[in-house]
Amino acid sequence: MTIDFGLLNRKALVTGSGRGIGRAIALRLAQAGCDVGVSDIDFAAAEAVAAEIRALGPSSCAFKADVSSASDVEAMFSSFLSTFQTIDILVNNAGITRDTLLVRMKETDWDLVLDINCKGVFLCCREAARTMMRARRGKIINIASVVGINGNAGQVNYSASKAGIIGITRTLAKELASRSILVNAVAPGFIKTPMTDKLPDTEKERLINDTPLKHMGTPLDVANAVLFLASSMADYITGDVLVVDGGLVLR
Ligand code: NAP
Repeated sequence: MTIDFGLLNRKALVTGSGRGIGRAIALRLAQAGCDVGVSDIDFAAAEAVAAEIRALGPSSCAFKADVSSASDVEAMFSSFLSTFQTIDILVNNAGITRDTLLVRMKETDWDLVLDINCKGVFLCCREAARTMMRARRGKIINIASVVGINGNAGQVNYSASKAGIIGITRTLAKELASRSILVNAVAPGFIKTPMTDKLPDTEKERLINDTPLKHMGTPLDVANAVLFLASSMADYITGDVLVVDGGLVLR
């Protein structure tokens, strides 16, 4: 007997899924039976992932959207709903870093990170909730970070955005529960992706040393947590933050 994730033919949209963690999430949901919208600011990257998913069997379509733009997000949802008719699962994954110490941080770097990482989640949740409220069901999973819980020197903009995502998650869990819409977050630690590849080697060594399991996580580690929260196995979990970090927040 095999486990049924309850995801066959469910319609999922994953932002920032042209590469890295988002790509792994999109592929994992497809492997569990979802039809997946692959959204990214880089359309060619999104289309390549959508083609990988179609090769697996499920339907997939690529969408180009900057999640910090209300008009882009509205157009993306309009196209997604024309293609898939409804939305069952939204994964807010798109995110960026612009790291530097407080006194060197430019206002533009603060605004850009908060606009993409935090306002982007608000805009996408608002669009998805309109359809999910009518359907009286849905799952929203927001990709936060352990730095939104513990903080991290040199990331005041990024940690504020990720703490904001946790606030959005807990608030919407309360606001949308009466319509059976479940809202959770996943907080990854140090995961090997293009985002972390650009860190200096000394910083990578420090983070690995601070991680009790003594190695980086993989995009698949995060995707498996998202799969669990999206699945029927997590139907009594809302407003939670699932930490996937090899023990980093324990330090
Ligand atoms: P990544 O490799 O940089 O991938 C992020 C994706 O988001 C890229 O495809 C990027 O497109 C896209 N993107 C950037 N700005 C966008 C925008 N305005 N609208 C739509 N898409 C946009 O990063 P990752 O490491 O996979 O991170 C994915 C998520 O996990 C992020 O929210 C990140 O904060 C979070 N996270 C990562 C780690 C980690 O250790 N890697 C840890 C904790 C949390 P381009 O390629 O065109 O820029």
